[in-house]
Amino acid sequence: MNLHEYQGKELLKQFGVSIQEGIVATTVDEAVIAAKTLNDERNSEFCVIKAQIHAGGRGKGGGVKLAKNSEEVKKHAGNILGMMLKTPQTPGGVNGPGKLVSKVLVTEDVYAPDFDACKEYYVSILMDRDRKCNVIIYSTEGGMDIEEVAEHTPELIFKEYVDPRLGLQGFQARKVAFNLGLSGKAFKEMTKFISSLYKAFVSSDASLFEINPCLQTGDDRILAVDCKVSLDDNALFRHPDLAAWRDTSEEDPTEVEAKSHGLNFVNLDGNVGCMVNGAGLAMATMDIIKLSGGEPANFLDVGGTADAQRVEKAFRIIMRDPSVKAILINIFGGIVRCDRVAQGVVDAYKNIGDIKIPIIVRLQGTNADIAKTIIDESGLEVHSAILLQEAADLVKKMLK
Ligand code: GDP
Ligand code: MN
Repeated sequence: MNLHEYQGKELLKQFGVSIQEGIVATTVDEAVIAAKTLNDERNSEFCVIKAQIHAGGRGKGGGVKLAKNSEEVKKHAGNILGMMLKTPQTPGGVNGPGKLVSKVLVTEDVYAPDFDACKEYYVSILMDRDRKCNVIIYSTEGGMDIEEVAEHTPELIFKEYVDPRLGLQGFQARKVAFNLGLSGKAFKEMTKFISSLYKAFVSSDASLFEINPCLQTGDDRILAVDCKVSLDDNALFRHPDLAAWRDTSEEDPTEVEAKSHGLNFVNLDGNVGCMVNGAGLAMATMDIIKLSGGEPANFLDVGGTADAQRVEKAFRIIMRDPSVKAILINIFGGIVRCDRVAQGVVDAYKNIGDIKIPIIVRLQGTNADIAKTIIDESGLEVHSAILLQEAADLVKKMLK
């Protein structure tokens, strides 16, 4: 689950990480009041209006604007609220439809008063699966596209591996500050920033924190100006307060619907839809599809207790994707009985009606033979297989 910038900052703040402060607004009037509240406290004139969508690159797309007075707050908030913001990270990229902005974060201008003295760094924390460690990735080249930095000047990107059993050690936080070239107050501030950031990462069961830019102000404070947070869905039950921040309007509507029916579904780009019980078997089925010359259109684990209704729901969800040219159903009957699933497939097929693509069903395990008979005798355009190889060959044949 991804968080909005304003939610991520709220989370960081709870762990003592210094942030660029801001107030969320959903209307121009609210934005003007927010700007006044922030600026009165700080004796300042400037503030920044930032679009809140789940995508980076907002600045370049016109979703981050500096306002020098309340007229400009009105103008920018008016332009950004309700806009379809296009960035390289919104669906379809800059040529796609963009994402509707319904909230802005009005923030203090942390680059003032000495813009030129500010320095932008890059800091992120994620899991390194090969090393079985968390890793802090950081660079002096913040503010810009980190992928470009990685490509052209990889030597400017540093990594600090943190053993999850030991946690972040003091010397490691100091090493980060040292490699970023800091000294004096900024060095101490960065050490504190990294330690609290790491604590926030572990405590919230996050899978990604990306702070870009992490700012060194003219008076040597270190602040998170932007923040991208992804949380581990499987650990969300431990964080009901964070789970409540889910914004489903930012997620793939089909995936949201599938989740509400207990289906574990991920949309992909291919042409063969698949319906499988168990995540491991689903992965293996995707491999089989590729080996037979197709590309999986989705990952779908219907779970261990696939009943007729769930099978039908899954069918409908898969068929919504116009690029699906065949569906492979691969069920292992362990607890679930194959004949029940087969009956579910036949019923769903009849209920939906007008299915124009071939469906290949491979049922193995308890009552597989009865299941095959049910499908073969149903009189429907459904092909049954018992061996995985047979199923794969059928997929290949159908795609031709
Ligand atoms: P992104 O484009 O989605 O990554 O959004 P960011 O939150 O990173 O903001 C984009 C850029 O806006 C930053 O890299 C900064 O250059 C600029 N920016 C953000 N906050 C401020 C601010 O307080 N003052 C000024 N002058 N610029 C800011
Ligand atoms: Mn950014």
